[in-house]
Amino acid sequence: MAFKPRSGRTAMDYSFTEQQQMLKKAARDFLTARCDKHFIDRITKTESGFDNGMWKEMADLGWQGLIIPEAHGGTGGDFLDLCALLEETGGALLPAPLFATVIGGALPLMLGGSKAQQERFLPRIAGGEAIFALALLEGDATYAQEAIKLEAKAAKDGYVLNGAKLFVPYAGSADYLTCAARTGTGVSLFIVDARAQGVSHTPLVTMGGEKKYEVTFTNVAVARDRLLGERDRGWPLIEKILERATAAKCAEMLGGMQHVLDFTIEYVKQRVQFGRPIGSFQAVQHHCANIVMGIELARGITWEAAWRISAGKPAAMEAAMAKQLANEAYLRTTVVAHQVHGGIGLIREHPLYLYYREARTAAYAYGDTAHSADRVAAAVAAGAPIW
Ligand SMILES: Cc1cc2nc3c(=O)[nH]c(=O)nc-3n(C[C@H](O)[C@H](O)[C@H](O)COP(=O)(O)OP(=O)(O)OC[C@H]3O[C@@H](n4cnc5c(N)ncnc54)[C@H](O)[C@@H]3O)c2cc1C
Repeated sequence: MAFKPRSGRTAMDYSFTEQQQMLKKAARDFLTARCDKHFIDRITKTESGFDNGMWKEMADLGWQGLIIPEAHGGTGGDFLDLCALLEETGGALLPAPLFATVIGGALPLMLGGSKAQQERFLPRIAGGEAIFALALLEGDATYAQEAIKLEAKAAKDGYVLNGAKLFVPYAGSADYLTCAARTGTGVSLFIVDARAQGVSHTPLVTMGGEKKYEVTFTNVAVARDRLLGERDRGWPLIEKILERATAAKCAEMLGGMQHVLDFTIEYVKQRVQFGRPIGSFQAVQHHCANIVMGIELARGITWEAAWRISAGKPAAMEAAMAKQLANEAYLRTTVVAHQVHGGIGLIREHPLYLYYREARTAAYAYGDTAHSADRVAAAVAAGAPIW
């Protein structure tokens, strides 16, 4: 993305590069053809929650390996490329472990994995052969170091894990869990075989029907070479992952809200009441204008966060601001869209309820509104530059 904010320009340029536009168009065409509301309804009722054939096609399109270097079987894209793709998958509400695998597997491995770990796992992720998930949250569901209670005790050949994780996406289908655990004086990250002896998972009933699990670890043996990054110093690595996960989630959410805006605008132009399209009424226009304003605010800061991450700049404050704005904008978009759609927005045949649920559940992921505000305050207190 040709984005150079804050200095040397009279206007910011949010435009995607030609390559990113091609990636987005290919993704949109694929998702329009393959991922309609009926597909989503059908696939979310299955046990795995995704279509295996489609997963392989996505790997052929290079999605799982988008940010993985070519040397490891990927296409060597950057974080902005990933966000550009996620905007499309979020717009289509793609039910598949793409976010889980890229954010929970490819990214941690690239940020903290050893050469041997990268050689072993990255080609399998890029090829669509390995599904990963981040196993981070526990009983109190907060994104804080103190909340990590799952214990990893040093043993002869590595570690033994005991404890439980909550809200682990696609754990029932995952091959590996990137699991945060307490070791000695700090927190460490491990790549755990999801089907190892002692790992069990229980599906959670979720608002949006997405696949989330409680995962229990009972005396799970993990080899020493599965430690990701440094022992006891896993939290800074987790913070980096969370910063990227937050921005990436915002990109997904932007896609969703833009999609709702597009079909809402379409609807108000077509729906005739009192002898004229409802879009000609000022109250309906104001509803639409309010949606647009919310989306534009969220868009600006989301792309700034993504751009900063891609450019290797600190982005904790921008990512948290983006999440707070995206939480509020996505919910407002769907609520106001319901208002605008009237009765039809409430029927199951209409996709709006899917987006409403997504807006509600995505708002919890990687920082609810209060948590995001706390993060912004902490970044400002730590001296983050403000415009
Ligand atoms: C980090 C995190 C991740 C999550 N991930 C997911 C997910 O992936 N999918 C999903 O579907 N859900 C997710 N959730 C949402 C989770 O399922 C909800 O928190 C849960 O369903 C709410 O049920 P509860 O028993 O916790 O009730 P409570 O949290 O106790 O709330 C029940 C109701 O009471 C209200 N309430 C609570 N306290 C007060 C008060 N003091 N005064 C007035 N009203 C109050 C609440 O607003 C709510 O309406 C997540 C939540 C968190 C915190």
